Amino acid sequence: MLSNKRLLLLPGDGIGPEVMNEVRRVIDWMDQRRHVTFDLDEDLVGGIAIDNKGTSLTDETLAKAMNADAVLLGAVGGPKWDGVARDIRPEAGLLKLRKEMDLFANLRPATVLPALAEASSLKEHLVSGLDILILRELTSGVYFGTPRGLTENADGTIEALDSQRYTSEEIERIMRVGFELAGKRNKKIHSVEKANVMETGVLWRRVATEVGKDFPDIDLEHMYADNCAMQLVREPKQFDVIVTDNLFGDILSDCAAMLTGSLGMLPSASLGAADESGRRMALYEPVHGSAPDIAGENKANPLATLQSFAMMLRYSFDDVENADLIHQATINLLNRGLRTPDIMQNGKELVSCSHIGKALCEELDKLAA
Ligand code: NAD
Repeated sequence: MLSNKRLLLLPGDGIGPEVMNEVRRVIDWMDQRRHVTFDLDEDLVGGIAIDNKGTSLTDETLAKAMNADAVLLGAVGGPKWDGVARDIRPEAGLLKLRKEMDLFANLRPATVLPALAEASSLKEHLVSGLDILILRELTSGVYFGTPRGLTENADGTIEALDSQRYTSEEIERIMRVGFELAGKRNKKIHSVEKANVMETGVLWRRVATEVGKDFPDIDLEHMYADNCAMQLVREPKQFDVIVTDNLFGDILSDCAAMLTGSLGMLPSASLGAADESGRRMALYEPVHGSAPDIAGENKANPLATLQSFAMMLRYSFDDVENADLIHQATINLLNRGLRTPDIMQNGKELVSCSHIGKALCEELDKLAA
């Protein structure tokens, strides 16, 4: 059994602390019932760190994250910090964390659990059984490219500039992760870019094709990002693994989110390169933000964060058994009819965030009995 894995919890802002409380409940359960123990540490990130430490990510917090075996983050941001300087705002802290940990591979599964197929915005037959993995490049592209900025022209108009930039190495390493994951799944991968109108797209397609030659048993298809968005809502089950850049991945994974019914159901993992010992830096977080509209009301759906914790067990600690246990317990509690407001359906029981956490532990108890 696992012991003494260094885990850093960063609950953050808004609903972050609420959903993290439910993870703590499951961590306690794992400790008591499965003898899976963690060296737990906790720190501030985002707006709460600005309020208490003057910046959204201090060097000390960053060092803790770099030394941990895994980091679990809730969410950052909120209207309270909309006016703070761009370089210290909550989102800047999160971007810095991803960049410094060099977490270039962002895994976003979009799975439609049977009990929630009718909650999808698409017809049930289009999404029932859906299981796709969007792999988003996370440390480069237009969110980091320079030059960037706002300048005032001589005629008084303001000009805004962002730069989309990729190197062949950056594309190659994310494509390799994509092919490796596809090899463990259905051996099918879509490489998504806009080679028709963007130079980065041309390079992306060329590198994807080259890397594909090392994986002859995997079926590689190239697709333009706008077509991919359309296909995701037309016939999503045609996809298995989608690999794409930072900007398109951000948009396409939110689109896939709605196929599953709610942002509150979507986990994610962000992984770095493996060192000689096989250890990878890793950050796990729900796809959703801090949901300021429902923060503090015990209404948030904690399942995305709980599934992120399960991904952590699977990818950072090779604990497939307990990851599967959490997945099954989630299916069982949904089959019992328990729903937070975001996934509420007719005839189901409306419950709170903390109720879901307790019910998950009850289901885990039954499965482990
Ligand atoms: P959001 O994801 O916070 O919320 C979008 C909508 O989904 C809201 O109606 C919200 O109530 C709902 N929602 C989100 N998560 C939910 C959950 N777990 N359970 C139930 N409902 C849920 O996105 P937003 O409103 O665009 O952003 C709010 C703040 O979060 C902003 O400050 C933004 O910058 C920040 N943000 C942070 C992250 C992150 O920390 N990774 C990601 C996205 C947005």
